[in-house]
Amino acid sequence: MSRLLRPLALFLDIDGTLIDLAPRPDLVVVPDFLPPLLRELAAQLGGALALVSGRALADIDRLFPGLAYVAGSHGGEWRLGGASSSSKVAIPELDALAAGAETLPGILVERKPLGVALHYRDNPQLAGQVRALARRTVERADQALRLIDGKAVVEVMPAGTDKGSVILRFMDNPVFAGRRPVYVGDDVTDECGFSAVNRLDGLSIRVGGTQGSAANRGLSSPQAVRRWLRTLHRQATGGNHAQS
Ligand SMILES: [Mg+2]
Repeated sequence: MSRLLRPLALFLDIDGTLIDLAPRPDLVVVPDFLPPLLRELAAQLGGALALVSGRALADIDRLFPGLAYVAGSHGGEWRLGGASSSSKVAIPELDALAAGAETLPGILVERKPLGVALHYRDNPQLAGQVRALARRTVERADQALRLIDGKAVVEVMPAGTDKGSVILRFMDNPVFAGRRPVYVGDDVTDECGFSAVNRLDGLSIRVGGTQGSAANRGLSSPQAVRRWLRTLHRQATGGNHAQS
């Protein structure tokens, strides 16, 4: 089969990709039609649809219930159909980082199952100070931690996990293997996901355009992503009708 005709495996980031960014991660709005649309698309793709987010797995399940394939915490936690797995390790420097950041005004400290996210959207003047604090933590942890810069957020997570490696892990699963991977993301943390699917002759789609990115396609906004997903869904539905 031509590689262009291979069935797709769809990997989707959440914040800034499927849904609009909010001032705080708990304030995002998920359009009502979106969770069922994703579940139906997953079924149409033979199961080969996975969310790949920096959010914790439990948080993703709350926003988008009923999906079998999910990767959270930037690839540090994942569920491949059945039981969940995690690369969780106890790193004491993370507690010190959270405690230190909690003293800073206007900084939202988000404890995640594997790491710590420091949101400075409410006090952008402290961006440099927050990043320096995070950098010192990473240096003290002697390669066990890494720093991830995002949109008005800096995260410290265990080293050795990223969205690209978890996508490759999923692509080894029989549900995904042999398909053409598509990854849609919007942020710095999505670049390794773009590179991973590019290596597999896939499609890498960045929300906000491709400039300065490894992505080979661009979409303008989360709204455009949702429109595109609806089109995919409609095409698959039309195909099914044609066959029956
Ligand atoms: Mg994002």
